Amino acid sequence: MTDLTHADWQSLAGAFRPVTEHHIDGGPHAGGGRTFTVVSPRDGRALAEVACGGQGEVDLAVAAARRAFDEGPWPRLTPTERGRALVRFAELVEEHRTELALAVSLEMGKPVTEAYGIELRAVANTFRWYGEAADKLVDELPQTAADALALVTREPVGVVAAVVPWNFPLTMAAWKIAPALAAGCTAVLKPAEQSPLSALLLGRLSVEAGLPPGVFNVVAGDGPEAGRALGLHPGVDVLAFTGSTAVGRHFLRYAADSNLKRVWLELGGKSPNIVFPDAPDLAAAAASAAWGIFFNQGEMCTAPSRLLVHRSIADEVVDAVVERGRTLRVGDPLDPATEMGALVTEAHLKRVQGHIETARAEGARLRCGGGRLDRPGTYLEPTVFDQVTPDMALARDEIFGPVLSVLTFDTEDEAVRLANATEYGLAAAVWTANLSTAHRVSRAVRAGTVWVNCYEEGGLNVPFGGMKQSGHGRDKSLHALDKYTDLKTTWVQL
Ligand code: NAP
Ligand code: MG
Repeated sequence: MTDLTHADWQSLAGAFRPVTEHHIDGGPHAGGGRTFTVVSPRDGRALAEVACGGQGEVDLAVAAARRAFDEGPWPRLTPTERGRALVRFAELVEEHRTELALAVSLEMGKPVTEAYGIELRAVANTFRWYGEAADKLVDELPQTAADALALVTREPVGVVAAVVPWNFPLTMAAWKIAPALAAGCTAVLKPAEQSPLSALLLGRLSVEAGLPPGVFNVVAGDGPEAGRALGLHPGVDVLAFTGSTAVGRHFLRYAADSNLKRVWLELGGKSPNIVFPDAPDLAAAAASAAWGIFFNQGEMCTAPSRLLVHRSIADEVVDAVVERGRTLRVGDPLDPATEMGALVTEAHLKRVQGHIETARAEGARLRCGGGRLDRPGTYLEPTVFDQVTPDMALARDEIFGPVLSVLTFDTEDEAVRLANATEYGLAAAVWTANLSTAHRVSRAVRAGTVWVNCYEEGGLNVPFGGMKQSGHGRDKSLHALDKYTDLKTTWVQL
């Protein structure tokens, strides 16, 4: 943790000098002169004018990544050498942790202590983990007849483009860039238009880490232009995307309309959090439910946005969640006492408020929150609706804000049916002290991650990703390397 005070962070913010140019071929690149304004949701004030990349900048970045892959040293280094560079990158992230955390907090509104303590720790850990893993991988030697030798080897797939969202702008980037680079690929990152500042700073740091020019490029710009250009680019071999399901569909089309590049999708969620009466600790289940939906302003793909609670304990659990919602400290992301910051943009806040209006009109009962804070910036009260029914939009749509839907159930079968009544399948949780219930329900729920008696737990050594329309492919763990490597079979007749 950091012991910087509110005043310290405010004065750092006053002195904040953002990086505003693309990072292409090992250095800053101003682009063609077009810019866009990054506004801080903290106070609605402009933070920076950032270079706005389009086809031209994407062409340059992909060409640089292509050269670095086809002719440069990176894929030809020993895995140990690549690993050392990634560990050095992790150390640089740690050295610049305060500045990076500030950039994240100012651009997307999360509490700076969470940016520092959670996001930046995850980013450094990710680069270190894949750096350390780089030289510990082994290939396969399938058994054959005595007169033959079969080799199954992994080769880096080439140029990887990563297009990521703003909610964890650096973590989502690191989950893709670190394994791609460890595998020997080169990369182009396009951050979300709301959160380019932290990514551009990361690009700068990569030079100091000793990554050769072109190995890691960052192009800032708008999705329908720069993101689309990457999706359609013939020089990109793999497109790794995290974001909404709607935009994920675009990337599949871009691939089909261009070079059939492989597309990996990490998409949205509407995750069920199922609480049985025999949960080991109902207070802990309620605290976790509240934390899960309000953490990061609810702007979490894995947010437990549907609380499915057994009717017999619904009052006890929901009252505790509502109490937490009422007392949560919403405010300046730079104040270490703040528990929930600002929503990412005015447009996003309006969208979330629209969901709240719809929920009211559909007859869900508002238990707390629902209103915007009367102050500059985009702050919303922690919001809980109960008496939600499965047909309501509130039970189906990803809101991506601090808005919880509570549904009740009577039987285990009903809980599983409700849990699976969604197009998404990213995550789920089950609270029960009964081992059989825990395993039965975990198996029955279609989700990439199921937590039992906890939420959002895990480490880099476990895969993360979705089922159904939450996507496919996995970030984290050695499985992530599957996305960035091709398998080659070499059959030798002796
Ligand atoms: P988004 O609107 O889908 O944007 C994600 C990225 O795609 C941004 O970089 C965006 O660029 C770009 N983009 C937008 N339109 C595009 C287009 N037509 N062609 C190419 N690229 C385009 O998502 P978001 O609002 O940033 O993030 C929220 C979503 O991300 C939620 O659905 C959430 O569940 C999901 N998410 C999923 C995970 C996961 O691991 N499964 C993790 C975090 C978030 P611009 O911003 O520059 O327009
Ligand atoms: Mg956009």
